[in-house]
Amino acid sequence: MANKKNGLVCSMCGTTDSQLNPVVKVFDGLNLCTDCIKFIEEARDSQLKTSEKKTKDDASISGAVPKPKAIKEFLDQYIIGQDEAKKYLSVAVYNHYKRIAQDKDTDDVDIEKSNIILVGPTGTGKTLLAKTIAKLLDVPFAIVDATVLTEAGYVGEDIESLLVRLLQACDYDVAKAEKGIVFIDEIDKIARKSDNPSITRDVSGEGVQQGLLKLLEGSTVLVPPNGGRKHPEQKMIAVDTKNILFICGGAFDGIERKIAARLNTHVVGYGHDEEGRKRQRENLMRYVMPQDLKSFGLIPEIIGRLPILTSLEPLDKTALRKILVEPKNAIIRQYKKLFLLDGVELEFTEDALDLIVDKAVEYKLGARGLRSIVETIMVDAMYEVPSDPIKTFTVDAAYVADKLEKAHFEKTQLSEK
Ligand code: ADP
Repeated sequence: MANKKNGLVCSMCGTTDSQLNPVVKVFDGLNLCTDCIKFIEEARDSQLKTSEKKTKDDASISGAVPKPKAIKEFLDQYIIGQDEAKKYLSVAVYNHYKRIAQDKDTDDVDIEKSNIILVGPTGTGKTLLAKTIAKLLDVPFAIVDATVLTEAGYVGEDIESLLVRLLQACDYDVAKAEKGIVFIDEIDKIARKSDNPSITRDVSGEGVQQGLLKLLEGSTVLVPPNGGRKHPEQKMIAVDTKNILFICGGAFDGIERKIAARLNTHVVGYGHDEEGRKRQRENLMRYVMPQDLKSFGLIPEIIGRLPILTSLEPLDKTALRKILVEPKNAIIRQYKKLFLLDGVELEFTEDALDLIVDKAVEYKLGARGLRSIVETIMVDAMYEVPSDPIKTFTVDAAYVADKLEKAHFEKTQLSEK
């Protein structure tokens, strides 16, 4: 696993391997010293920054909004798969900001705001999509969990608190916040409990939906500056939500039954095997329509204010494998970089990566689990390697299995469920 002092010579600057400036073999015929690696990294980072800036500059040519294709290309760098959702989102975001740009036009055609709702299993990239778009556009971004919101006066957070988060994201610059993006997670958890309007008050379901409606439609809302409850003597900040883009996300567990019912298929839940049922569920999700959200318990007014509806696919093994290594800030890349800063070349064998993915699937942790698995595997190496005089560190399947077993990973994961 470790190389002893190797007397290698840097192919770039000719330095011989030393404690102060270690040289590592990158591949046959190319050795690099730590200084040169840093130099290359800095050059690459500045090139990346230039290309990101270029995408943003391209945007400003067309009135500060990147074209849908440019938005999707940017998303592709960070998010694996989900092409359909990316396309819908790119078009919606483009139209939204174009609409803001033409807001002062005199012509009387009003382009309506196109808030978005993303339906798909947890951990498939809904939050990541919204976050990445905000990053590209350089607009304030806030994530709120719909489950903590309640009607004013009830225990929980007032609905206006989500605007406080947005204000906090841009140092209370109201004009900036008014063009920001809010991601409302777990919107499915505030579905009303039955299809009939309730007689008793439903403070965390329908009540919250009614409250949200006001924000989604676009209105001027008075926000308590420090969050929390409104006090009569507190000075409020007025925020106009007309140009804030709301992206809602939810897993909508069980919605495939509603879709199946609408499509007149009676197969869901009665498939012959687990695999078959899973495939059916995945296929059905693609056909999600506004009326299915209504059957699930969202009120028609809310659905009307979320005109862009798209679904995300569950991530299969191939997608998880790509997530480990491909995105610009993929977990494996991050660890390689960390090790390189200590002059150590970190390698993962193919079967090690396969095993990590298998474990994420086995424990039903999805993409979110990849990070916790890799962290568990790497903690010992992270502790020891900086003080070890080694040049390379290879993680193979046996190492992965051993570390997971020693950390009782299985037990900790199961007990968390
Ligand atoms: P969701 O909002 O759908 O529950 P997230 O967007 O929060 O899921 O995803 C959790 C994490 O999993 C992300 O931070 C990211 O590291 C990873 N991830 C999920 N889906 C993808 C994807 N399609 N491409 C790349 N990474 C992903």
